[in-house]
Amino acid sequence: MTIVPIPAFSDNYIWMLEREGRVAVVDPGDANPVLAVLQERGVILDTLIITHHHFDHTGGVRALKEKTNCRVVGPDNPKIEGIDEKLGDGDIVHVLGYDFAVLEVPGHTLDHIALHCADESVLFCGDTLFVGGCGRVFEGTYPMMQSSLAKLAALPPETAVYCTHEYTLANLAFARKVEPDNEDLLAHASKCERMRAENIPTVPSTIGRELEINPFLRWSSPAVIAQLTHEGRFEGGSPAEVFGAVRAWKDEG
Ligand SMILES: [Zn+2]
Repeated sequence: MTIVPIPAFSDNYIWMLEREGRVAVVDPGDANPVLAVLQERGVILDTLIITHHHFDHTGGVRALKEKTNCRVVGPDNPKIEGIDEKLGDGDIVHVLGYDFAVLEVPGHTLDHIALHCADESVLFCGDTLFVGGCGRVFEGTYPMMQSSLAKLAALPPETAVYCTHEYTLANLAFARKVEPDNEDLLAHASKCERMRAENIPTVPSTIGRELEINPFLRWSSPAVIAQLTHEGRFEGGSPAEVFGAVRAWKDEG
C-alpha cells in the first residue's frame, strides 16, 4: 500500500492511498490541495474516507464529490454531508481492494471512527490517537475516550498509525513532563526534533512505539502514576481515572 501525505491548513495531513492509478483520500478538510495532487499524479479519486464531522476533516467533501463523482464512506452522522456508505463498529469496508475494519472510537467526537487494515498493518485514526498524544475530549467523556484508546492500543504493535495532525513536538514536550525519565520517550523526542527541522512528517508512528512513549496510553505505567500522584493530580483509581488525570493536566497548558 502506497500512502502519501497531502499537507493542508497549518498542521493537517490528508492521507492518500494509491493503487494502480486510483486513490483514496482520508479526511479532506480542503479540496484544493487534493485536486492539485490528483492532477499532478494523473490519478483517479475513487473513495473519500471520513473519520469524524469536524470541518478540517470534511470541508473538501462536497467539492471533491462534485468534481470527481467519488464515493464517500464515513460515520453515521447527518451533520456530515455526502456520505454514501455509513460505517459502524465491526463493519468491513473495501477500499481500492483492501479490507478495512471499522472501529468506533468516541471521545474527541461522538461519531469518531478509525479504520484498520490488518493485511497491511495500517490504521487511520483521525484525531483520536496522535504521536505522543490524543485528541481533546470535546463531545465524550474521559472514560469513553480511554476505552476508545484501549481499542487502538490492542492492535498489533507493528500497526502504522496515521493520524491527521503534526502535533508531535508539542505532545512530546508535555509527555516529558509526565515521564521525565522515560528513555524511549527522550530518544523518540530527539529523533522527531531532527525530522521536523528537515520538515519531514513524524507521522506515521506505530502502536508499539506509542505504547512506549504516549502518556495517554500509559495508564498502567508505575512511573506515570507516581508522577501524577507527586503532582497532586491522582489519588488512586482505574485506568480511566489515570487517563483523565493526564488529559486534564494537558488541557491546562
Ligand atoms: Zn477533530
